[in-house]
Amino acid sequence: MVNTMKAAVFEAIKVIKVKDVPIPEICDDEVLVQVKNTGICGTDWSIYNGWYSAEKLPMIPGHEFSGVIAKVGKNVNRVKEGDRVTADINMSCGHCYYCMRGDQLLCNDFTQLGIHTDGTFAEYVRAKASLVHVLPDNLSFEEGAFIEPLSCCIHAAKAMNARLGGSVAIVGCGLGVLHARMAVLRACAPVIIVGDNTKRLNIAKEMGADYTIDIREVSDPVEEVKKLTGGRGVDYAIEAVGTTKTYEQAFAMLRKGGVLSAFGITGEMDTMQIRPFEFVLGEKKVTGSCAGIGDDWPDAITLLAAGRIDPKPLFSMKVPLEDLEWALHELRKDPNLFKIFVSSEISKREIL
Ligand SMILES: [Zn+2]
Ligand SMILES: [Zn+2]
Repeated sequence: MVNTMKAAVFEAIKVIKVKDVPIPEICDDEVLVQVKNTGICGTDWSIYNGWYSAEKLPMIPGHEFSGVIAKVGKNVNRVKEGDRVTADINMSCGHCYYCMRGDQLLCNDFTQLGIHTDGTFAEYVRAKASLVHVLPDNLSFEEGAFIEPLSCCIHAAKAMNARLGGSVAIVGCGLGVLHARMAVLRACAPVIIVGDNTKRLNIAKEMGADYTIDIREVSDPVEEVKKLTGGRGVDYAIEAVGTTKTYEQAFAMLRKGGVLSAFGITGEMDTMQIRPFEFVLGEKKVTGSCAGIGDDWPDAITLLAAGRIDPKPLFSMKVPLEDLEWALHELRKDPNLFKIFVSSEISKREIL
């Protein structure tokens, strides 16, 4: 095997170079995965712009991936060469205060593959064997690369823990579309999704959402949600945009005793206005969720493999590694694009 591979290296802020770099060396409890697809995530855009992980540059991002095991470390026996896989990207120390309590996502020494360590915008990546998940035969490599974002939604849904028959409003129609689908699967009603993109709102509707609210047509989405819930507001509101304004709107959509699921990532120093009164006399609650970890991964795989969630309407195109930078910009410009996959195995863009 040659010992170099092609990778998209983020050399500095807004500088990506596709070049040959050494293939990662694996330890005894690790595997080397030949990457098939990597989905582009908003986090990659943040790393590109230096808003996140800037101190880690130069690095190879990419974390929503699927691939085939090319090599296993000496101590690895639960997976083998040739297995089609993805991997949980979350790495925790296992012994700090939070890890000991089972809250690995809050680990003091928390890192994520492709966000804090070299990732999958490359031909190969190394991963801990214990974090690898084998893909069922009926999942494509595109669906395999979609397990990570779905696991994040599942983690948030578990934290929010919606009851059957509960009303849900989702603000945002990116991953908000998956939140809507999951609320439908949980037998919530009505499921209302608020967004600014006709195509995505229609996909949410096809996935079972009861109402769509297009903010380009409706001046006050909070009023609209109240109208649809007998003037009360919803039992659950999921913020899946990541701005102060949409957080304030989602919170205002809640009925007394309602639960806000905080999913969209805002700027680190952004603040929102909440009257403490809403918590005391309104008994409103907030659940936060930063990633999918542990059993969220097999749960995501099960839901995809069983066809409960069909993400294919959200897949837009696949591009070669050389087009990653173009695709990062295109995703900002063209609201009809949703998930773009990057692959080192193709040389021309493919529409999915
Ligand atoms: Zn992601
Ligand atoms: Zn820890």
